[in-house]
Amino acid sequence: MLKVFGSPSRYIQGPDAIEVLGRSAALFGRHAALVIDRYVYGVLAERLRRLCREHGVTLHDMVLDGDLTPDVVAALCEQAAGLSPTLVIAVGGGKSLDAGKAVAHASHCHLITVPTVASNDAPTSKNYVLYDAHHNLLAVEHMLFNPTMVIVDTTLIATAPAHFFRAGLGDAISKKFEAAQCSRNHGKNMFDAGSTATAQLIADGCAQTLLECGEDALKAAGTGAPTPAFERAVEAMILMSGLGFESGGLSIAHALTRGLPRVAGVGPALHGLQVAVGLLVQLDLERRSDSTLADLTRWYGRVGLPTTLRELGATAIDAEQVREAARLTLKARHAANFDYTLSEDDLTAALLRHAG
Ligand SMILES: [Zn+2]
Repeated sequence: MLKVFGSPSRYIQGPDAIEVLGRSAALFGRHAALVIDRYVYGVLAERLRRLCREHGVTLHDMVLDGDLTPDVVAALCEQAAGLSPTLVIAVGGGKSLDAGKAVAHASHCHLITVPTVASNDAPTSKNYVLYDAHHNLLAVEHMLFNPTMVIVDTTLIATAPAHFFRAGLGDAISKKFEAAQCSRNHGKNMFDAGSTATAQLIADGCAQTLLECGEDALKAAGTGAPTPAFERAVEAMILMSGLGFESGGLSIAHALTRGLPRVAGVGPALHGLQVAVGLLVQLDLERRSDSTLADLTRWYGRVGLPTTLRELGATAIDAEQVREAARLTLKARHAANFDYTLSEDDLTAALLRHAG
């Protein structure tokens, strides 16, 4: 199997990094589609328009409401077709960035992602997720290439509530362990190919960085004032984590996000919080003899990540629901990237050990 490593062409991070948006956008033409959710639009639209106008770039607003369903994507793409943009600028949380990817994919044009939260590593990757009208995951789609540019303004990210930052820690810390399972068991990464040692080293660096400074970084979340620890953690959570999963591959922790929402009360929990509990379940199933699971559980305690289904929001632990969660998880393709073939019983038992 060939190994493939992919990444954005350029990653820009720092306080007030958004100030380079106009200059960056002008590299790609005079008309850009701005894909943005309604809340962020209210907060940032005027500033974004000014930044782009200063460099001769006109923004065409495409404001997103609700989930990213195939109907919403079709409507956005129809709107974009009338504009023929050479560039899409996607600003906001995971949903807006995914919508921007869908539009850039259909329009065959460049994409700049500007995350306003660090709750997951969507900004760097080429994949985007579609939902049905009932918020069930429908499909994971892929652009041909990664975003051309990723602009991470740490002042903006530090303004978002700590809850989002905490979820980002959960999403990122798992990548080292998932990439290891994927490469050790000859799984495929998001490029449908083998993973490089480079991807594993990046995922290792991501975990090491977060274990060192995640707790300190969390103190700056919500203050609007990024600290050196915050800068390091954001780079780990967005760049290292994104490269780590996309080129390194995934395993049980992420496969579990397919099943966990079946447990009553867990559905609304942020992706990264579900992954956090999923990682503990994965490490449990790995039957490790070392202290990794205990060390990680202690770190979870210090940064406030959930360690059980109850802490994730489960209102009751119904054995049938947990079994259904296990069944759906094993259907996800990443579930095969593991040391041994997991049965529904194995996974159900591990989930029940983390019921709380
Ligand atoms: Zn994730």
